[in-house]
Amino acid sequence: KKFGLQEIVAHCKEYGFVYPSSDIYGGLNAVYDYGPYGSQLRQNIKDYWWRAMVQAHENIVGLDASIFMHPQTWVASGHVDAFNDPMIDNKDSKKRYRADHLIEEIYAGKLENKIAKEIRKAAKRFGDAFDEQEFRATNPRVLKYQGQIDSAIERMNVFLNAEDLAGFKGLIEELEIKCPVSGTGNWTDIRQFNLMFSTQGGGSLGDNNLYLRPETAQGIFVNFNNVLNSSRQKLPFGIAQIGKAFRNEIVARQFVFRMREFEQMEMQYFVRPGKELEAYEYWKEKRLRWHQAIIGGENAHRFHNHEKLAHYANAAADIEFEYAFGFRELEGIHSRTDFDLKAHQELSGKKLQYFDPELKESYVPYVVETSVGCDRMFLAVLSDALQEDIVPDADGKESSRTVMKLHPALAPVKCAILPLLKNKEALTSKAREVFDRLKYSFQCQYDEKDAIGRRYRRQDAIGTPYCVTIDFDTLEDNTVTIRDRDSLEQKRVSIDEVERIISEKVDV
Ligand code: ATP
Repeated sequence: KKFGLQEIVAHCKEYGFVYPSSDIYGGLNAVYDYGPYGSQLRQNIKDYWWRAMVQAHENIVGLDASIFMHPQTWVASGHVDAFNDPMIDNKDSKKRYRADHLIEEIYAGKLENKIAKEIRKAAKRFGDAFDEQEFRATNPRVLKYQGQIDSAIERMNVFLNAEDLAGFKGLIEELEIKCPVSGTGNWTDIRQFNLMFSTQGGGSLGDNNLYLRPETAQGIFVNFNNVLNSSRQKLPFGIAQIGKAFRNEIVARQFVFRMREFEQMEMQYFVRPGKELEAYEYWKEKRLRWHQAIIGGENAHRFHNHEKLAHYANAAADIEFEYAFGFRELEGIHSRTDFDLKAHQELSGKKLQYFDPELKESYVPYVVETSVGCDRMFLAVLSDALQEDIVPDADGKESSRTVMKLHPALAPVKCAILPLLKNKEALTSKAREVFDRLKYSFQCQYDEKDAIGRRYRRQDAIGTPYCVTIDFDTLEDNTVTIRDRDSLEQKRVSIDEVERIISEKVDV
């Protein structure tokens, strides 16, 4: 049985993965701190991404740009003018909503629940003969609800595109009558709310308003010439970066899925104009396969192709993952055209061009971006891995355990080293010897407290793929048992073999 969101949040706190930020002061809304295992898991996610993107591609190089950037950056990128979300408050409940989410998540969500209810009822009635596809396509009630959802979202997009906020508000009031979300329809007007955090420079920075970057991408664009001139790259080539980004999200919910401070893993791929859609298709597929290699199952991910495009894009898709609260964006793949480089070229007065030796001409390259949130990846990994399963206990009876079945490459601890008993010095010193032997190859943990069965359960709950137990036989013949988290199989192997066995499994 997989965990729901509340259970994931509780597990993360209890086992040292994620805590609310500044917990002793009551936390800070939508800001979180990663604990001992969470920070290691996050580090492993970033390493896995960096190896796949930078190390495995001779034409992708890394960058680590600053969070603070020249204020003009955000004028050129369009963020000062257009990085807004529509915000609306309910005057009675005093609740604040992102107007587009209000429609998509609450209104459409309610109708989707009604559809799900119809389907459950029919499935019960028809038993084996039930065909969901056919039922969806023919049942008048399902068709009515689906039609209402589609038309509401379509109308919302028209209002958003036209920046017709009054029309948009009218739509919310109209929907509220059919499907009330908050008791009354007493709404404020919709305002555009800029999502950038700003702070004052001062001193030698002058009085400029500085922004905390809302995306890492612009650090790559403003460094285009620097990287080109210092890295010997030819087009097509990519620049990859992992770093923090900040957005003053109107409503931040769903744990680390939507935070005000988060981390992005982004790659901007520069190509000759006209080659961008080919590169876009290539990266879409390649990024999907990257996700599938770490979270199994054909159905965990899906593409969502955007019809409504951002001002800088000529094609865009999300890779969505099925979280406990439904399919949501995990990664964005965007064909950003030459919008950013051109805008920076114009505002800075510096040429941001590439001389193509084949064409013998200079041009501003086109860009394809892959952008995945480290924290959304973290939540996806936990949502997929964390479960309760039934296993035989020591006397062969069935008992349930909490286990995190995540890919060994991502596991925060790869190997737990456990002396059978804590008060037998011969066992504990032998176990410490094994720990010292393995600790430079991968993350190990020494644990001697509590009965061995409870220690196994604790390692299951933090996702440790292997437990190595040192018992009295070890002292005789230098063998240990190695226990597999998923199959629960325990094998006796020579100490000399342990490193090879685990290394083979934890490398991707
Ligand atoms: P959404 O529509 O969910 O707000 P977005 O389309 O604004 O996301 P992008 O600007 O494409 O997101 O950012 C790229 C990636 O950064 C996203 O796919 C997501 O993984 C991550 N991301 C964006 N906003 C947040 C956030 N507030 N908290 C955590 N991760 C985020």
